[in-house]
Amino acid sequence: MMDPCELSPSYVRSIAPYQPGKPISELAREMGLEEAAIVKLASNENPRGIGPRTRAAIEAAIGEVARYPDGNGFELKQKLSARYGVDMGSIVLGNGSNDVLELVASAFLGPGRAAVFSQHCFAVYPLATQSRGARPIVVPAKNYAHDLEAMVKAIDDETYVAWVANPNNPTGTFARHEEIEAFLRRVPERVLVVIDEAYNEYLTPELRSDSFKLVKRHPNLVITRTFSKAYGLAGLRVGYALAHPSVADVMNRVRQPFNVNSVALAAAVAALDDMEFVARSYAENLQGLRQLEESATQLGLDYIPSHGNFLTIRVGKAAEIYRKLLKRGVIVRPVGGGYGLPEHLRVTVGTAAENEKFLAALAASLKE
Ligand SMILES: *Cc1c(COP(=O)(O)O)cnc(C)c1O
Repeated sequence: MMDPCELSPSYVRSIAPYQPGKPISELAREMGLEEAAIVKLASNENPRGIGPRTRAAIEAAIGEVARYPDGNGFELKQKLSARYGVDMGSIVLGNGSNDVLELVASAFLGPGRAAVFSQHCFAVYPLATQSRGARPIVVPAKNYAHDLEAMVKAIDDETYVAWVANPNNPTGTFARHEEIEAFLRRVPERVLVVIDEAYNEYLTPELRSDSFKLVKRHPNLVITRTFSKAYGLAGLRVGYALAHPSVADVMNRVRQPFNVNSVALAAAVAALDDMEFVARSYAENLQGLRQLEESATQLGLDYIPSHGNFLTIRVGKAAEIYRKLLKRGVIVRPVGGGYGLPEHLRVTVGTAAENEKFLAALAASLKE
């Protein structure tokens, strides 16, 4: 008898499943550990949780969950529009920014088309590309970073999307505003450029730029952001894209009508006002990043300088160290398989105490 899986198109069957960070509950079950004793630094979540306004908004929104959410996300779009000076018609909301990336793929990719992305890039780009039957064009990284020049050169007549993570995950590398502008000037108008700014709130002030302004000059530009990282809403799933209104329009046509739930919408609106929380997250993250960098150096380990809330450290036999860390109740992220960095581990910047626990476990695991 035939395997019913064979009924799926071959380009779908060849997709390697996404490997998420191991959940705390799973490690607790596997190792017989207390959940409270486990430190998870595997998914670039905000270790501080959420801000006070966000919490209050979530509690209030629970009273309305019997109703469908506002499928147009009016309030959140209005808030984003006022905050960033962009038209509401340019905003597309998603169930996390992953959803928004999928909307780009649904609207602009398909068999006979190609998308270009970098080696070591965020895993969702190859996934979204392949699931639409589009051809991936993988460009070798330069010093772990996107080689934007080479990406331009790799674009062919079938290319319709260029995926760029800025900063990139899992490498933490960043392309400055001038480099992005130069890239946009050289990419043919037919190619939609997606700049994924999931870690934007963690950038130091001198690296921040008004990338939203570029959308006015480049109708083929889509910028994505998320509430999953600095705002602490990874579990609620809400992100958005900013694009030319015509691009936003097609993306909205392939969107599920109620893709962002009502609690997430209310939380995101409030999160934009939890500015002290975001400022504190930024400052503590920077301290934590330095703490991890200095300790890695003391342990004699190289790392890839990061602009996000994580550090990718070269530990050598990463799969082995990963398992030793698990035994000590510390979950980090292996970046071998999918990301092509078999000697590195990616660790999220936690609280000072979590970072210390990780560093002690790392030192012990290296010696063992
Ligand atoms: C974490 C991350 C996202 C965010 O995903 P959500 O779906 O918004 O949770 C997007 N892009 C990159 C590069 C990321 O690392």
